[in-house]
This record gives sequence, structure tokens and C-alpha cells, in this order.
Amino acid sequence: MNIPFLSFKQSNDLIQDQILEAFKKVFDSQWYILGEALKDFEKQYADFNGVNHCVGVSNGLDALHLSLKSLGIGEGDEVLLPSNTYIATVLAVSFVKATPVFVEPDRNTYNICPNNIKKAITSKTKAIIPVHLYGQCCQMDEIMVIAKENKLLVIEDNAQAQGSACGPGLSGSFGDVNATSFYPGKNLGALGDAGAITTNDETIALSIRTLRNYGSQKKYFNHVIGHNMRLDELQAAFLSVKLKYLNQWNLERQQLAEIYNDTLKEVGDIVTPTIAKNCTHVFHLYVIRTKLRDELQKFLSEKGIGTLIHYPVPPHLQEAYQHLGYEKGSFTVAEELADTCLSLPIWPGMKPDQTVLVSKTIKEFFISHS
Ligand SMILES: *Cc1c(COP(=O)(O)O)cnc(C)c1O
Repeated sequence: MNIPFLSFKQSNDLIQDQILEAFKKVFDSQWYILGEALKDFEKQYADFNGVNHCVGVSNGLDALHLSLKSLGIGEGDEVLLPSNTYIATVLAVSFVKATPVFVEPDRNTYNICPNNIKKAITSKTKAIIPVHLYGQCCQMDEIMVIAKENKLLVIEDNAQAQGSACGPGLSGSFGDVNATSFYPGKNLGALGDAGAITTNDETIALSIRTLRNYGSQKKYFNHVIGHNMRLDELQAAFLSVKLKYLNQWNLERQQLAEIYNDTLKEVGDIVTPTIAKNCTHVFHLYVIRTKLRDELQKFLSEKGIGTLIHYPVPPHLQEAYQHLGYEKGSFTVAEELADTCLSLPIWPGMKPDQTVLVSKTIKEFFISHS
């Protein structure tokens, strides 16, 4: 048996001809940075996302960084973010010298808990970064009400959930400015590093266009101290090809997740994903929880099944964040997740039979451990 954690084989086969064509078009254009391919992709992704503006940038971390910077968040400001997020969310807050304040997620959905957000607000709180973790959209209806009542800015981290929704709105369309990543393994992935911000605010969009390109709007005239954080033409052209398949690929992920849900019901102590009322999940990751996580992972690996842990160490326990003064026990929900979560294989093109086989092997493990 050989079931990898993730494979690009099937999706790549499907788009290979179009990718090569897109490559040739950019190659022949002799224009490789800030050109037509990027403009086209930005327009298409803004339309897909239901927002007025999309600005392509170098990666998801830079998208978060520029989002915070464009909103003027900085030293002395507190930014609320989930205690179980990927480190990039926290790093972006550090880059603008603001203070990350961790908020525990809901124990069932793993997304930032609206009630816990309310409890964490102080006079210094400036913004909230809801992270649509594993592919499930946060409860943005409730979060936007809290933000409005407390005059807080909202920056969605939509790296894992392109195409998910809360009510009628898509992830990446709720916040003042929203960041996403097109890292290859994301639901919409480039063939290298890439990211984007989405917003309805024209001034913010212009500010980010300026910041991503040396702080310049006119070549060799610099308005602000900017960065080189541009999304290149090739990646933009590839992303335009892949965007056409995003909804179909998300649907495939949802169908595979459904099979896992059915076949893992009442197996050992396994907890399968819970989806909040009003929200959808596009299963960037299919994450289960079990107290026997490490043993199960080893067993699956020996049988040729790839799994990963997202994430083994929560940000507050990372060496890089020791100066914040947290310790083990500071965020017990995040810590419990880190100790018990396991991401199972899922990708567009994975065969339903493979999914069933993974579940069968998990059952075998629990039979031998009961
Ligand atoms: C992947 C990811 C990022 C960072 O994206 P990069 O393109 O790798 O910089 C940020 N936040 C979350 C939640 C992610 O999963």
C-alpha cells in the first residue's frame, strides 16, 4: 500500500497542457513582473472571491504583513488571533511590532471562538485575525458584529480556505483586508510561492500595491518605505489556470471528507470534524483527534499511509515566542489539539477507494489496541 499524504499527480495531469500554454504565453511576452498575467489573475480572483480588489503578493506571510501594515497597526496595539494557528499569522503581527494576543479556539470546530474574542478585548485591542483553519470558514457573522461593536479591524487569514463560506459571504470577503496564500499545497496553489490580499477598500488596495513594489507608484519615485513582495507573471498565469478548477476540487475534497466521516464513525476514540452552523468547510485538511495519535501515526506509516500533524507545537510554546511569557497550560485547548490531532490524506484526485482503505487501516489499529 502506498497512499501519500498529498499528491499533485491527478490535478497536474488534468491541467498540464494549459499550464504549458500559460508558460509559453508569459515566456514569449518578454515581460515577467507586474504585467498582464498578474492583472488578469487579480481580476479573476477578486471576482471569484466577491470583492472589489485583489492584490497579488509574494506569499501568504507577506500578504498578512502588508495587510496589517496597510491598516496602520503597530507598536502598542494588541491583535487577537487563535492560539492554535500556523506560526505565519503570529509572525506577521510581530513584523509590525504589535502584540499578538492568543484566543482559544472552539473545542469542536477548531476555529477562533467568538465568545473568547469578547473576553480578550482590552483598551489596546486594535484588530482580530480570524484564521479559517483546516478549510472551515470562521463564524464571520458573529465575529463581524463583535468587531463593529468594539470598533476593531478585521483581517482574515484565508490561506487554508479559499472558496469556503459563512452564510452568503465567501471567506476573504468579510474583513477590512484579507490575506491568502497560494503555497503549492493550499486549495488554490501556485507552482511556487504566491499570495494575495482581497479587500473592498480602494485606498487599502492602492496602499498594498505601493508597499509590495518598493513603496512606488511611479517608477523610481518612492512614496513610502516599501518592500519587494510582488507576485510574478508566471505564477499569476498558472494560478489563473488553476482557479477555474477550484470549486470542482473543493467539491472533491468535501466528498472525500464525507467518506471519512461515514467510515470513521465510532472507531476507537476518534473525533471527526465538526462544522459550525452557517459555515462551510473546504477540507484543506481532514483532521481527526485521538489520544493514541502518535501510535496511530506510526502504525499508518508502517502500512504506507502518509499523515501529518497540524500543528505539533502551538505558537505560545514556540521558542521564538518565549518572551511573551506563556507556559504549558496557558492555552489548554490549543495544547490538547496539538497533542491529539492528525491530518489524514486528502487531495483532489484521491480515489474514494483509497479513502476507504485509510479508514479500514485505522479500524485495524484500534482493534489491535482495544
Ligand atoms: C500557509 C499559511 C500561511 C502562510 O502562507 P505562505 O504562503 O506559506 O507564506 C499563513 N497562514 C496560514 C493559516 C497558513 O496555513
